[in-house]
Amino acid sequence: MARRFDVVILGAGAAGLMCAIRAGQGGKRVLVLDHAKNPAEKIRISGGGRCNFTNIHATPKNYLSANPHFAKSALARYTPRDFLDLVEKHRIAWHEKTLGQLFCDDSAKDIIHMLLDEMRAVGATLELKTEISTVEKGPDGFRITTTGGMVEAGAVVIATGGKSIPKMGATGFAYRIAAEFGLKVTETRPGLVPLTLDPTLLEKLSPLSGIAVDAEVKHGKTSFREALLFTHRGISGPSILQISSYWREGDAIKLSIEPDIDIATRLKEGRKANGKQAAQTVLGEILPKRLAQFLTENAGMTGQMADQGDRKLEALAAGAQDWTIVPAGSEGYRTAEVTIGGIDTSEIDSKTMQAKNVPGLYFIGECVDVTGWLGGYNFQWAWASGHACGEALSEL
Ligand code: FAD
Repeated sequence: MARRFDVVILGAGAAGLMCAIRAGQGGKRVLVLDHAKNPAEKIRISGGGRCNFTNIHATPKNYLSANPHFAKSALARYTPRDFLDLVEKHRIAWHEKTLGQLFCDDSAKDIIHMLLDEMRAVGATLELKTEISTVEKGPDGFRITTTGGMVEAGAVVIATGGKSIPKMGATGFAYRIAAEFGLKVTETRPGLVPLTLDPTLLEKLSPLSGIAVDAEVKHGKTSFREALLFTHRGISGPSILQISSYWREGDAIKLSIEPDIDIATRLKEGRKANGKQAAQTVLGEILPKRLAQFLTENAGMTGQMADQGDRKLEALAAGAQDWTIVPAGSEGYRTAEVTIGGIDTSEIDSKTMQAKNVPGLYFIGECVDVTGWLGGYNFQWAWASGHACGEALSEL
């Protein structure tokens, strides 16, 4: 005999748990299923173990989607302040790190415990280590075949996330279900991911591995100003992760290191102050020494400052501040924080997250074609879309 619930939520991640809480508050009998051993593994590892759980400046402009208006309704109805109220209700200590990014003082596990406590309080059931094979719609609602038996429900919410970090149980399940129900899925690709370089460039930049600098990174008209990190695989750091979501294979990106400093003028001043010193020494007072050495060698600059003309010093500065790189690729889903693209938003009602042509079927969180910037925006989307869906379900 199949067990029957009002709502079955597939995926016990950020979005699924929030949806369960809100639907449960509305008096619905809710079951959450997940194939993993533990719920919300991505919350646990997020923000270096401290979970950057929201961003106080989150607006729809911080999200990528084929329809930039889609996220507006859910984001407006469940704000960063709403989530912070929940965090404070549970007396979880938090702090703002930078750029509106809110983190737990202690551990990301505090957020998981908070969500599980809230879920228990509304009587929602969580079942882990459960594989889901089919989701079918019949005259009385949905039938879900799982390794824990058959389950029936009036509504099914797909909250199984995207493809990033398959080692942690990420699957393309949501896209498969969408396709089975005839819903369009936009092209998916890794986002918030380190970029790789071709072997020749990687070899050339290998002396820089481990260096972090403040940089502005540009792709077309989009730019981010945050740290940039040279690694043994390519380039990373927040500014690169941010731009990676906009970058496409073959595209160039532009780097400007220490954009607030007029390096050319500083070099010329250094030459005036002491013409006997080497350019590398002057540049090494502005930039990390290994980077200064690399840039001067790369510019073929030898001898004293007094020997260098303005054009040469300007070219040396441009090496740092007008640097064009064509990345070879990205590290892919293995390390990507998110999946760009997903369930086509034209298929979903932005107020309820219900599939327009399949009443009772809902999609929330990362599996939808809404992707946030780095900095707490992705969890805010998970909370907001989960909440909007849970609210709609509780009104059924
Ligand atoms: P998920 O959290 O991925 O949850 C999906 C759930 O579905 C999982 O529990 C999974 O086990 C389950 N599932 C998947 N497939 C199946 C299946 N076939 N059957 C059953 N269950 C299934 N965002 C931020 O805002 N701030 C951060 O600090 C941050 N840090 C991050 C750090 C890392 C390393 C990574 C990878 C991501 C980070 N993110 C961060 C992004 C954020 O984790 C995601 O955007 C968010 O978790 C998406 O929530 P979700 O509920 O949609 O999906």
